[in-house]
Amino acid sequence: MNSLNDFFENLDPETLDGHGPVAMKDLVEEDNKNVVGTYCVFTPYEVIRAADAIPVTLCSTSDATIEDGEEDLPRNLCPLIKSSYGFAITDKCPYFHFADIIVGETTCDGKKKMYEYLDDVTPVHVMNLPQSNDRDIDFEIWKDEVVLLKEKLEAKYDTEITKERLKEEIENKNKERQAIKNFYELGKLNPSPLYGTEIFKVINITNYTFDKEIAIDRINEISEEVLERYNNGDKRISEDAPRILITGCPMGQATEKVIKAIEDNGGSVVCLESCTGLKPNDQLVNEDIDPIEAITEKYLNTPCSCMSPNDNRVELLNRLVEEYQVDGVVDMILQACHTYNVESHRIKEELKEASNTPYINIETDYSQSDVGQLETRLTAFLEML
Ligand code: SF4
Ligand code: SF4
Repeated sequence: MNSLNDFFENLDPETLDGHGPVAMKDLVEEDNKNVVGTYCVFTPYEVIRAADAIPVTLCSTSDATIEDGEEDLPRNLCPLIKSSYGFAITDKCPYFHFADIIVGETTCDGKKKMYEYLDDVTPVHVMNLPQSNDRDIDFEIWKDEVVLLKEKLEAKYDTEITKERLKEEIENKNKERQAIKNFYELGKLNPSPLYGTEIFKVINITNYTFDKEIAIDRINEISEEVLERYNNGDKRISEDAPRILITGCPMGQATEKVIKAIEDNGGSVVCLESCTGLKPNDQLVNEDIDPIEAITEKYLNTPCSCMSPNDNRVELLNRLVEEYQVDGVVDMILQACHTYNVESHRIKEELKEASNTPYINIETDYSQSDVGQLETRLTAFLEML
């Protein structure tokens, strides 16, 4: 039997059936499917699926399009926003290319202002997100926005999004979330069977496999395979490696450098908490209540720093620190992301009070020029654990 290293090296997303840009091209050109582009995990995925359209997360995590983005956007803006916009105006994101409409939300200021310009490239439907989630009115505002999105898609695609279709898509998405959660939970094993970069690879496979039955089967098979090899003694990570949870801004291609800086220097990334990790999959949508209300509740409770206060993030982090037996928390903050940057102080204090878990905040962008500096700071942090 091959080792887990070989298993993950051979797991090449580009060679998988039904995965990636080629699969999307076939769906659009041969099956006449409609595509809705998304950037943020507040977007109610089930509503798009219930309109028989394909929701797809658009490219936003590469340094390659930052300069293009800076043609219209200020330099001192979060790289995720500049990269997204750069991909869109240069037609370098294959998924943006096929999207009929983009759904955005009023999360942070930079993103919502960027959507005004993006609308000149492809129509953008902006959902007005309340900035808190603990008042009754927040629920009502967000519910209205979910209904407006439903009506927008019904009109655009000349279809009816029935309660039955919504319920069906809630069940489908819950199955996918559960499969992803099960995979993530392998990181609770001590030592973890997974490297952080491998977690990314598997999540990428799931997100960009558009036939969700195939995607769910695939991730379940990967989880079983990893567990079997691990139980047969294929343990690659030392029991002494400090167990690290990464929180903060969404991660991606350019910021994998943070994971590498931890794992190349003796740490073990056991949990990726951010929006490109466990966060959107942690809570399922309630299948027993009205589907619009259930979707409203789930998405409004997303623990994003644009919410004030953001108690849900504190609760989630404290729980994950315990469940994953975390030795230290790394908060990755993208340059010019004010909400995560300001929230950093609270996160540090809350972790200290709840479990005395060591915490470090690192600010970075999409360039690779700070890799040496990241390694120095993270190595010092790991040595202290
Ligand atoms: S961090 Fe907030 S704004 Fe960014 S993708 Fe996540 S939910 Fe959306
Ligand atoms: S990382 Fe921060 S600034 Fe960038 S898009 Fe997300 S919330 Fe906005």
